[in-house]
Amino acid sequence: MKLKIACISGDGIGPEIIAEAKKVLQIVCEKYDHSLIFEDLLLGGASIDAYGEPLTAETIEKAKNMDCVLMGSIGGDTTTSPWYQLPAHLRPEAGLLSIRKELQLFANLRPALLYEELKDACPLRADISQQGFDMLIMRELTGGLYFGARKTYEKNGLRVATDTLTYDEEEIRRIAIKAFEIAKKRKYKVCSVDKANVLDSSRLWRQVVMEVHKDYQDVSLEHMLVDNCAMQLVKNPSQFDVVLTENMFGDILSDEASMITGSIGMLPSASLNQSKFGLYEPSHGSAPDIAGKNIANPIATILSAAMMLRLTFDLDQEANQIEQAIKDVLKEKYRTIDIMSEGCNLVSCDQMGTLIASKLK
Ligand code: NAD
Repeated sequence: MKLKIACISGDGIGPEIIAEAKKVLQIVCEKYDHSLIFEDLLLGGASIDAYGEPLTAETIEKAKNMDCVLMGSIGGDTTTSPWYQLPAHLRPEAGLLSIRKELQLFANLRPALLYEELKDACPLRADISQQGFDMLIMRELTGGLYFGARKTYEKNGLRVATDTLTYDEEEIRRIAIKAFEIAKKRKYKVCSVDKANVLDSSRLWRQVVMEVHKDYQDVSLEHMLVDNCAMQLVKNPSQFDVVLTENMFGDILSDEASMITGSIGMLPSASLNQSKFGLYEPSHGSAPDIAGKNIANPIATILSAAMMLRLTFDLDQEANQIEQAIKDVLKEKYRTIDIMSEGCNLVSCDQMGTLIASKLK
């Protein structure tokens, strides 16, 4: 198979972690006889330095001509970097928001997996963390409260602010389909999260999810209110597999889910559109405090590459092998500094990438 990948290294630790993801992809593609084509593109601070803007029209066009985008992370130190003296629309993050919009990436997927070897990093009570968890939060990314009409005005001498939360049935249907499809690659289990006891938008959400579910009877479906879900995530996270929810609830719940894994350098993410196109990136930022030191953890980016193989290219076996290689390296007690604990072997960013790649040969 030919894999055409737009590659955005980005800023800070971005180039270091992307180099390791590329290293792992090269090995796995050689093994399975796939040809890899990378188109390196600039976004964020690197694009500001080169072109004076965080995202150019040419970059968007080039990205659209590839099968998907693999990204490191963008942005700099928000207090010292000159990028943050620029007007908001010219700052690094504006480029990220624009590319998501241009590529119509409406489904955001964030897995939260507690690795056996990293259970000590979990901030939950030991009897809860011992049960482990492996869930995927699927958040609607282009609708709802963050995109609705808003205004601030004065009424009867008081300042008033209004935001609107709107979903049409098509926006709900397309992400529900994604959730059920992805559940079929996992444990055939979806929990749809809403606030249907209060909100009209949530009642429509629930109705449409139930309608879509008729075509996926082999997948079990549960509905949960968002306040209960926030509690269940810390009380009994092992009950969840795919958690499907709207934009704002997903924003909060996905951060909660990632916190309970206890290690930011381990969390991948994917943002998908209607087709198989996706943008794959670690959940963490560009970590300017450790950039250029070869100490960043590349695992979140390597896991994002594995998600890319599975979701854009349907290469499940190759993705499984990368995930297994990571587990093996952790089992052998190799750690980057962010996940280091007593009795383990400290390795650099590139050593971690090489160790993972060596398991794939
Ligand atoms: P951050 O995630 O970059 O860093 C938070 C802390 O975690 C830092 O101490 C950092 O050293 C550490 N860390 C993060 N990733 C790590 C890794 N792979 N290995 C080891 N340690 C790691 O968050 P921040 O400091 O709030 O933001 C820094 C910059 O990143 C900002 O400009 C922000 O806007 C940007 N950012 C970008 C994205 C993105 O590209 N999608 C996401 C979040 C933040």
